[in-house]
Amino acid sequence: MNCPEIRKILYPSPEKCPLTLETSKALEHLRDCVECQEHFRAQTEWSETFKEKLGSEVVPERLQTEILKEIDRRPSSKPHSPLWPVRKRRLLIAALVVSVVGAWVFHWWPSRQLFRTVFEDHARYLQAQSQVNSSNPEELESWFRDKTDFAVRVPALDSAQLLGGRLCFLKGRKAALVFYRKGGRTVSLFQLNGRGVSLAALKQAEFDGSSFWRMSFQGYSLAAFEQRGVVYVVVSDLREGELLNLASAIQVKSRGY
Ligand SMILES: [Zn+2]
Repeated sequence: MNCPEIRKILYPSPEKCPLTLETSKALEHLRDCVECQEHFRAQTEWSETFKEKLGSEVVPERLQTEILKEIDRRPSSKPHSPLWPVRKRRLLIAALVVSVVGAWVFHWWPSRQLFRTVFEDHARYLQAQSQVNSSNPEELESWFRDKTDFAVRVPALDSAQLLGGRLCFLKGRKAALVFYRKGGRTVSLFQLNGRGVSLAALKQAEFDGSSFWRMSFQGYSLAAFEQRGVVYVVVSDLREGELLNLASAIQVKSRGY
């Protein structure tokens, strides 16, 4: 049996799949196959995030009411049994849900994956491996000039030491990465062109009167915001409050340019 066959047997997940003669063989394969493990891990994360989004944002009651009103307004062309409008409503609502799910899959999911790679790059350059070492913001900004299609900002922070910067690629997008050190921890500040990036794929949070987008992964946290078409992402394993304090300082400075 190959991986696609194994995944079909274990669908929708190793915990929820129907028990058949092939199940134990498939589970045996799963124990040793990193690709299949990753496949189911990604599936679980997808459905959890989706449930979260569906529960909190998608198809609000007001929207449902609007749709039902819209359906009522449409003149019914053919007289049908009294059951028909109910069925029709259900179909229309189902169609709406499908379109919202579609929007989520095609718009939010790629962004979610993009932010996952932000964590990977933070972990990859955890020793602040810079292409240019400097604690001078102007020097770093001029190093980034002509290397990106947006102006890279390097805020000087009172509470963190500036170390240097480098370029990196996030799902094929060029990003600027600036390193700071705070309390012995590396803090990564990513900046990338915000075109096509949906911050709504993350959780919204308020801090100090400002709005941020949050996500955590494997012990790291990020706080993101957008400023003049550029997405700023601050990543570290600092405590929640410290990270948001830094993100807030960076947001204030980035506004001042
Ligand atoms: Zn496999």
